[in-house]
Amino acid sequence: MQLKKDKGQLIVLSGPSGVGKSTVIAELLSQRDNIYFSVSYTTRQPRVGEQDGVNYNFVSRAEFERMIAADELLEYAEYVSNYYGTSLKAIQQRLDTGVDVLLDIEVQGAAKVKARCPDALFIFIIPPSFEELSRRLHGRNTDSEEIISGRLEKARVEFCEIPNYDYLVINDKVTHAVEEIEAILRAAECRVSSRQRILAQFQ
Ligand code: ADP
Ligand code: 5GP
Repeated sequence: MQLKKDKGQLIVLSGPSGVGKSTVIAELLSQRDNIYFSVSYTTRQPRVGEQDGVNYNFVSRAEFERMIAADELLEYAEYVSNYYGTSLKAIQQRLDTGVDVLLDIEVQGAAKVKARCPDALFIFIIPPSFEELSRRLHGRNTDSEEIISGRLEKARVEFCEIPNYDYLVINDKVTHAVEEIEAILRAAECRVSSRQRILAQFQ
């Protein structure tokens, strides 16, 4: 039974660049209602096909640093020489009205969210192999060889953080990865703590 929730679930999805997070998220969002994808702020340049306000809010370094100083970010991190961060206001309002919020953030940011929001769901997504990750980064055709090497190096460091996550999803096929995430979200909805409102009538 689908009930309106008192509070939305905060969902943190991390995984190395090129694993397929954006692809899996797009598929998940097309199948699921009542979920909001948090559009991050970044100082990196848009890739071909990326739209301001859709994939990211693309801002200057000066504007990003103003947001840090004004305490407008739930978390932020510097990743391969660019800033990335999550607007607190944009997600808080949704969570308060019962909408689930999905963050696609890297491991340092995820650790900050864990410290501030321990009830969030932490999901790490991996490729079927390291070679496949390299193939996907090359196949995406959006980054220079130098940037790709930096991202692959970073991936090895990120894998060490997996024990800090609750769930590990393997993106071999997009449909499988989406099914696994759906299963995780469904299980979270069935937690006793998520069903306090319906439970109240039996107590
Ligand atoms: P991320 O958001 O994690 O950086 P993307 O979603 O941009 O990754 O995916 C990187 C590349 O891998 C894209 O070219 C995408 O089409 C491809 N890709 C994503 N998932 C799969 C998959 N399960 N099998 C094969 N290719 C995939
Ligand atoms: P990309 O440049 O490939 O889009 O993203 C690089 C990395 O930044 C990815 O691991 C992605 O999850 C992460 N990222 C995107 N937005 C945010 C954010 O708001 N905060 C943090 N900490 N990481 C982010």
